Formats: sequence, structure tokens, C-alpha cells
Amino acid sequence: MWQARTIIHNGQAIPFAEARIHPLALGVAFGIAVFEGLRAYRHPGGGFSVFRLEEHLDRLAQGMKVLRLADPPSKDTLRQALLEVIRLNEPDEDAYLRLQVQIEGLGMMATTGPVGWIAAALPRERSAKFATGLAAQVSSWTRLPDNAMPPRVKASANYHASRLATLQAKADGYDSAILLTQRGKVSEAAAACLFLVRDGVLATPSRGSDILESITRDTVMVLAREAGIPVEEREVDRTELYVADEIFLCGTGQELVAVTSVDRLPVGDGAPGAVTRRLQAAYEGVVRGTSDAHSEWRTPV
Ligand code: PMP
Repeated sequence: MWQARTIIHNGQAIPFAEARIHPLALGVAFGIAVFEGLRAYRHPGGGFSVFRLEEHLDRLAQGMKVLRLADPPSKDTLRQALLEVIRLNEPDEDAYLRLQVQIEGLGMMATTGPVGWIAAALPRERSAKFATGLAAQVSSWTRLPDNAMPPRVKASANYHASRLATLQAKADGYDSAILLTQRGKVSEAAAACLFLVRDGVLATPSRGSDILESITRDTVMVLAREAGIPVEEREVDRTELYVADEIFLCGTGQELVAVTSVDRLPVGDGAPGAVTRRLQAAYEGVVRGTSDAHSEWRTPV
């Protein structure tokens, strides 16, 4: 598999291993950083495209605004750097991409700059559970509330709850964790949003359920509606996970992956369901460009 060779840091392409930041920079000391994880897919006919680059740039800009970062890098700067870093790394397979913006200055907690940024391309294989599905645990860790650690912002510091829930799930013999909101409603998985199928309707926790406003979640809703599958964004109860016909997680990293049990109760017949498999195939078509649909979602590298 190819290796990451080059990273772009504040506009400069440097060897991947040589990127540096001071340990007392606010980005490290207080985790004042926002990021995006994106994917570049290799097309069967050759060439790569980045999936939904503009939506990722928009979400990153929203995060920089909420965190009140001073003089944040522009979308143009980040877009150009991301496309450039893919070319410089010469991947021969799909690449996982990272844009990250952090405070690189030292100072008090309310310091707002100077702000630095990186663009990186890394190898990343598809989830080992892509075909078989995951065993999930409803975590005793809860999702962050908007008025403390806004989950809508993809901030590095937001990942403690996800990480603790994942470590707990693995220690208990599961693959993944599902987190509830502080009010006990289903929110999302550790780094992926969640859909369930009940009575032929696809449902997903609403934007008010302390989710990250996932770009894959949006893609799934568009593809499902186009396939004639009714979609609801609403509050989801924990016990709906136990009686659902199908459940799957979705995110840039995980793509679409079935959940085949929750708290050891089988979901449906305990195998990835028909709706999940249909949407996995539709997703694969649009990310890889094997279907003509939604060419506006693919930025050629
Ligand atoms: N929730 C969290 C907490 C995440 O980290 C991710 C991955 N970015 C997602 C959901 C899925 O978001 P997206 O589809 O935009 O990758």
C-alpha cells in the first residue's frame, strides 16, 4: 500500500514526518482545532475525485466561525492545498484526506490566533466489517450537548466521549458504540451517524439530536429519496434500536456499514438488510463515479 510522503503545513509542502507544532500551542494545550476527514476515490477508468469537497469546506468554515478563530484560511486556500497534497502523495488507491485548522500560537485560553492549518492524504482501507456488519453497544457515555461542546462543530476536543465509548465497547467485546443524548434519545455512533429502517421507512436522529451534521448522512437521505424510500429525520428512542428491521452507520471513514446486533439483540435477522445493501451500492456508485448521478459531488483531482 502507498505511504503518506508529503504534508502541506501553512502552504508549504514538507516531508510528512517533519510537520511540527509547539506542545504549548493552544491547538495542543486546549485542543483548539477543527478538522475535516474526506475521501478521494479512485475511479475504475483511472483518476481520482474528492467526494463532496465543497460541503466539507463549508462545514469547516462554520466550525472556524463558531470557535472564533482569527484570520482563518480561506476555502480557496484549503481547496487548492488539498488537491495539491493528493497529487504530491501519488496514491495508487483510495485516500483518506485531512484538513485541520488549529491555533499554533501560545497564550491564554481565549487567544484566537495565530491560526495554522494542514492538508494531508493518508492510506485507509475500507472497514473490515463493511460486508458482515457490526455488533454495537449502547454506551453509558453520553453525547456532548450543544451548549457545552457543540457537536455540530467537528472539533478535535469533541472526541473524548467518542473515544471513551469506543474503548468501553471494545473492552466489553463489541465493535462499536452508539451514544445517546443527555435526554436519553439516540444520537449517533462514535464517528458516524445512524439510520434505522422500520416498516419500510428510513429514519435518522434529527439535527437537534446532538449529531455532527454528517455529509454522508445527507448523501444517504438524497440517495434514499431518489430510490423512492421514505426518509424521516426525527427523535429516535433507544428501544427502537432493538425492534428495527435494519440499522446502519454512515460516515466518510466508515462509509455505510450495517449494525447486525445492538446490546447482543439481533437487528432483523442478524445480517445486513436489503435497504442497507441497496444504499451501500448506490453510495459506491456516486463516490466512485460508476454512476453518472451527482457529478457535482465529485471534484476531479
Ligand atoms: N459523527 C462524528 C462524531 C464524526 O466524527 C463523523 C465523521 N466525520 C460523522 C458523524 C460522519 O460525518 P461525515 O459523514 O461528514 O464524515
